[in-house]
Amino acid sequence: MEQVTKILYVEDDPSSVTLVRRVLESEGYQVITVPDGLSAVEAAERETPDLILMDIGVGGLDGYEVTTLLQTTKGLQQVPVVAVTAATLSGDRERALVAGCAGYIPKPIDVDTFPDQVRSFLRGAKEEIESAEEKSKYLVEYSHRLVDRLETKIRELEATHAELQRVDKMKTDFIILASHELRTPLTAIYGYAQILCSNPAITGSPDEADSPRFIIEKMAEATRRLNQVIGDILNVSLIDADRLDLAVGPVFLKSLVHKAVENITEIAPDRDLTFEFEGLEDLPPVMGDSKRLYQAVWNVITNAVKYTPDGGHVRITGCQLEGTVHVAVQDSGVGIPREAQEHIFDCFYVLEDAAFHHSSKTAFKGGGLGLGLTVARGIIEGHGGRIWAESEGRDERQLPGSTFHILLPLGNVPPS
Ligand code: ADP
Repeated sequence: MEQVTKILYVEDDPSSVTLVRRVLESEGYQVITVPDGLSAVEAAERETPDLILMDIGVGGLDGYEVTTLLQTTKGLQQVPVVAVTAATLSGDRERALVAGCAGYIPKPIDVDTFPDQVRSFLRGAKEEIESAEEKSKYLVEYSHRLVDRLETKIRELEATHAELQRVDKMKTDFIILASHELRTPLTAIYGYAQILCSNPAITGSPDEADSPRFIIEKMAEATRRLNQVIGDILNVSLIDADRLDLAVGPVFLKSLVHKAVENITEIAPDRDLTFEFEGLEDLPPVMGDSKRLYQAVWNVITNAVKYTPDGGHVRITGCQLEGTVHVAVQDSGVGIPREAQEHIFDCFYVLEDAAFHHSSKTAFKGGGLGLGLTVARGIIEGHGGRIWAESEGRDERQLPGSTFHILLPLGNVPPS
């Protein structure tokens, strides 16, 4: 089968595109068109055309720059690039040639001669600048122009980066301030609800729907959850802004893990899961912030609980490895797809469909905001440690399970 000749036309003016396409297609060529410099580079790499017709004035990278780039791109060096441009001032032809163009066709194109011009470039025609002196003059001018453009772009990027940083800091400051402001009244509500809960004058029981005690306990629980969500948002912002303060002291991971498991089983008495522990008692203390480390471990263990169906088990092991302590939380749950094992540590990343979102810290597949592992990683890394996930994949029938590894250095926490 005869192969069609492919021509890539880089042009942002629709009427030129229509005309050139019509002329070339009637000659039997396949025409691909793109409107700017960066798309031209992508299209050339993807399509490997037989010829590229380049409007010099396109946006982004201009036609000269795209030509120079393509002429040094592996696999495209042999593809002729021809400037098709309305720039007809003295020197424009030479500028196109020093940038790497094989030739120059002025715009508007002459419909009668254009097919012959294209054919001749397809056969390998190449224009040259006759005088070596003139060529070197245009090369110097071209390199100066490139450096000028580069400098301007770097300045623009730096200014944009500084502006983004300023706006990002404003956002972080706002979240931190708003979280603190929200927490203060919430703590008061929670405290008063607790006082009411312990008041024997409140009638009813937690199991008696709509009784005063039932209502107050539900309010207290909802306030506690709200406080946790605000805490997660606050922590993520502090981690993001590198402002997570650590109150460092010796931390015994065994008691921290047991305390977290006790707390989780207390708030999830209805979950039928078996916990196993191994090697934790032999672990030396690590230097760290016990509250923050508790939060990290708690987040990982609640996930193990959330993503393991009833009847499953969670195994928490510890061992000392050279200068580090290794804690692994292994569950017999639904597992994590391999391609998501890094992303689950990103802010707001959840695998569950948001349409089925139900907010619970312990129910099977109970959803959250996707901040738990971001917070856990921020805390562990803030202690100079590492945390990562391992799983053979996600399968709700076979239940391959997941293992979360936490490595913490023995010795001092690195200064932040
Ligand atoms: P959230 O705060 O919403 O619980 P996380 O950041 O803790 O979110 O977790 C992000 C995602 O990682 C969860 O939506 C879940 O799909 C997946 N994940 C975390 N831990 C496990 C696990 N032990 N087993 C299976 N999936 C998990």
